[in-house]
Amino acid sequence: MSYGALRTAYCPHAETRITSPTARFPALVYSLQVKDSWEFREFSMSEHVIVVHYHELWLKGRNRRFFVGKLHTALRRSLEGLPTRSIEKPGDRFLIRLTEGVNLGSAIQRMERVLGVAYYAVARSVERALDRICYAAWDEIELLQLANFAVRAQRSDKSFPHSTLEIEREVGSFLLERFRAAGRDVNVKLKNPDVTCHIEISPGPALVYARKIPGPGGLPANTAGRLACLLSGGYDSAVAAYHMMKRGAHLSFVHFYGTGSRPGESSLHVASGLAQQLVPYQFQAKLFRVPFEPIQREIVRYAPEEYRILLYRRMMLRIAESLARRDRCLALVTGDSLGQVASQTLRNLVAVDAASNMPVFRPLIGSDKMEILATARKIGTYDISSEPFHDCCPVFLPRNPALYARPDELEEAESKLDIPALIIDGIRGTTLEELKFSSGQVVAAEPRAVWRSDKPKAAIA
Ligand code: ATP
Ligand code: MG
Repeated sequence: MSYGALRTAYCPHAETRITSPTARFPALVYSLQVKDSWEFREFSMSEHVIVVHYHELWLKGRNRRFFVGKLHTALRRSLEGLPTRSIEKPGDRFLIRLTEGVNLGSAIQRMERVLGVAYYAVARSVERALDRICYAAWDEIELLQLANFAVRAQRSDKSFPHSTLEIEREVGSFLLERFRAAGRDVNVKLKNPDVTCHIEISPGPALVYARKIPGPGGLPANTAGRLACLLSGGYDSAVAAYHMMKRGAHLSFVHFYGTGSRPGESSLHVASGLAQQLVPYQFQAKLFRVPFEPIQREIVRYAPEEYRILLYRRMMLRIAESLARRDRCLALVTGDSLGQVASQTLRNLVAVDAASNMPVFRPLIGSDKMEILATARKIGTYDISSEPFHDCCPVFLPRNPALYARPDELEEAESKLDIPALIIDGIRGTTLEELKFSSGQVVAAEPRAVWRSDKPKAAIA
């Protein structure tokens, strides 16, 4: 049944309520490009409201309050510094009321990094009168490419004189008439329509929106526990970190750097840039910076050449584990992808892992490089990883690296190394850069040493 038919059946006086098409409101420029094909037009809003929807999956059972609370915190911290009137949660969504004049582009940019958001929309906020709602709905969907649509109303404020059904019928039939008058072949489709125009009646102005912007999805930040990610300057590990953050983990980063042949050539600035790009997802992060060249020199001196890279990796895992334990992390994360390079054959990965007493998670193990690079572009780490830097791993690269090492072979290969002493040396040289996302800015504290000579047992402060 069409909305027109429904309206005639249930709202015989509807026409009289929808007054002149000139009943427009004072214009307010809303010039945001969300999708190229979607043109935003001027319309009136007494305030900006962002409607935020989250996935239902994690809402089951008693965890619901915990996750929703964390999402609320994430929204608040992400929007910090922007003039926000309130963040409310009427029903199963959040309404963010921004103060008039706020830079909507910045608000949208911040929303893109709020994990746990399935989608959101910038709603038209209009006076709670049916004619106003109808015109706002028309403004909202007039320019969209669609063959059919539905109208869905939600009414949390029961003092509004029309039921949700009446609102849906009246607005639906108004839109249908307008499409027909414009010569467009558009129908009402209540199941799986191309576009759904949402109308929300809660206390305050009515909200109208149809253009949903996908959020990053995943679970809200800081809901899954702590992990330490071995962050190189390359593309993979930053993407691996993002995948784990998206599952609610809070990451600390551990970066191993060489000195480079010229001053300023080390990879530290790239690792710091990557951590800064990732910190808005979780609001705070630590970047442990470990000088690695002295350790590599020991390995080159005492171990067979073919195992060098694998022994570098084993030492990285051991030092990262030691830092991770003191930082209350439960496991390690790397950006390995099966078969990507010689050190990442299945056997080599297993032989490297044997050096760690902590679980090592590799979220990219089954991804290919193109998929990884696409994510790197999406999260803004691609350009940072493309910067030239001195990577410590290829230093003293073996001519014929081992492809199928066994754990016992690697143990034998490193038998001449004083491993506990090398771990302590690594930690002694480690500096910590603490990063914070505050009022839309990433603030990095001056790096400081983690080794406290007055606390030799604790090793780090
Ligand atoms: P890419 O392969 O895109 O150059 P990557 O980060 O994967 O970048 P690899 O050489 O493939 O670098 O190393 C495999 C994994 O080992 C990395 O994903 C990272 O987790 C860890 N790793 C390598 N080098 C370092 C380093 N210098 N500091 C910290 N972790 C490192
Ligand atoms: Mg790699």
